[in-house]
Amino acid sequence: MEKQTLISVYATELPEQEMDNTTCNDIFYEGTETEYRLAIRAAAEQVSGFLKNTKKPFSGIRPATLLAEFDNIDLEHPLPDYKSLFEEVNALYIQHATAFHLPEYIAHLNCPVVIPALAAEVIISAINSSQDTYDQSAGGTFIERRLIGWTGQQIGYSSQCDGVFTGGGSQSNLMGLLLARDYYALTYLKHNIKLQGHPANANRFRIFMSEKAHFSNQKNASLMGLGEQAIVKVGTDNRFRMDASLLEQAILREMAEGNIPIAIVATAGTTDFGNIDPLQQIACIAKEFKLWMHVDAAYGCGLLLSEKYRYLLNGIELADSVTIDYHKSFFQPISSSAFLVKNKLHLNIIKHHADYLNPKEQDYDELPAQINKSITQSTRRFDALKLWFTLRLLGKQKLGIYTDRIIDTTEQAACMIEASQHFELLSHSDLGVLVFRYLPQHAGGIDTCAMNQYIKQTMFFNGEVLVASTKVNGQFYLKFTILNPLTTIQHIQNILTVIKKHGKDYELRHHMPAKG
Ligand SMILES: *Cc1c(COP(=O)(O)O)cnc(C)c1O
Repeated sequence: MEKQTLISVYATELPEQEMDNTTCNDIFYEGTETEYRLAIRAAAEQVSGFLKNTKKPFSGIRPATLLAEFDNIDLEHPLPDYKSLFEEVNALYIQHATAFHLPEYIAHLNCPVVIPALAAEVIISAINSSQDTYDQSAGGTFIERRLIGWTGQQIGYSSQCDGVFTGGGSQSNLMGLLLARDYYALTYLKHNIKLQGHPANANRFRIFMSEKAHFSNQKNASLMGLGEQAIVKVGTDNRFRMDASLLEQAILREMAEGNIPIAIVATAGTTDFGNIDPLQQIACIAKEFKLWMHVDAAYGCGLLLSEKYRYLLNGIELADSVTIDYHKSFFQPISSSAFLVKNKLHLNIIKHHADYLNPKEQDYDELPAQINKSITQSTRRFDALKLWFTLRLLGKQKLGIYTDRIIDTTEQAACMIEASQHFELLSHSDLGVLVFRYLPQHAGGIDTCAMNQYIKQTMFFNGEVLVASTKVNGQFYLKFTILNPLTTIQHIQNILTVIKKHGKDYELRHHMPAKG
């Protein structure tokens, strides 16, 4: 057993040995198991090291320096052992990985992950079930179904709802728009797009969403062959939420021009401001004009966990379909997302059959197959197990408290930024996003956009604080996305101090002092 150390590649050496089948199997099993345990333990130690030693959200390495590290990598020649492998992957990746778990990381929509989900990941990849059919994932099929049912319940759907786990919000949004389009054509034009392709007037189909809706919707409209021209962007209110009266006007205007409204996408939690479109008003309009309503709750879905703030999602239960990203707001590792429909019969519209996988004549009540609900993936990871571990061990309530804490910290931060003469805040947030900028403290030739760009870049390459940015009305703004319940108002205060320091430095160097 001397050989089965960390550096063992025992399993791959086996075929060279001459043995009868029984012995071979035994040894193969033992050798594999030993290597497995050692490899997984060593990998877990790498993660522990990352968590223990990482003090800043980013190492600050420049792309050219990092790229140079790849110069001597020869993919044709494998490394001799796990030790060398971990050394290499540390140099190339781990030590420069962005640390989403640190409170000073408040840039993009990346949540810190909960440990039960990580334990599930070990099982998911090793057993490697594929969620397409019962014969590839028996218990996995029912775990996924229960979680979809549970999520539907949180939304407020009846037992008629259904859905499927997807690879992300962009995919879920695609399913929403695709169903909306195909449903419209089937119901009102008696035209089956799945079989026949677009009807002649498809170039007049219109989908309404706010100016702040996620850009995956544009990409999806292009993918679907409707083109970005199919998207009608509706103006927003002072918190960058869709203005319902502008929505109604836009629908009437498009109809008057001979175009064909088919769907509305409401955003529950905009990527830039974390605010929620008026769901109930939008649902009324959708009903009035007989339009499919899709709610993109990729970000705002976390409110489903909260007792305190759940009311902000009121009206989501009226949507025909919903996008949920557990990997944004349920503290789940990437990927973990879902697409839900209010009426499960609607999923039949997109069903395709393959003789080798899900033959048409099969009784799917008898022998279920999740593939029937998935249009964007066939082989599909058992991501649902992560959420299962999380709910069964931590429970909804604890996750809800995390969510509340994030929202409360964000509101305190908003008040702090608003009260300071150094900053301009654009909007308060229903969730955890704040868009603001540092203002020049002295009159005299300072380019505010360039200054804020400098602040962001300097903090990034110092690795001390990671914030995001966006543009509003052509102006550059800094953006906090707070998704970590461990980020406190004290951290925010420190981060604002760092921002002020870099802002002042910039001003000192670029300020044109008045002659005197
Ligand atoms: C992140 C996001 C998406 C896209 O989700 P992915 O999981 O990144 O594909 C869609 N909509 C909104 C509002 C988002 O914030």
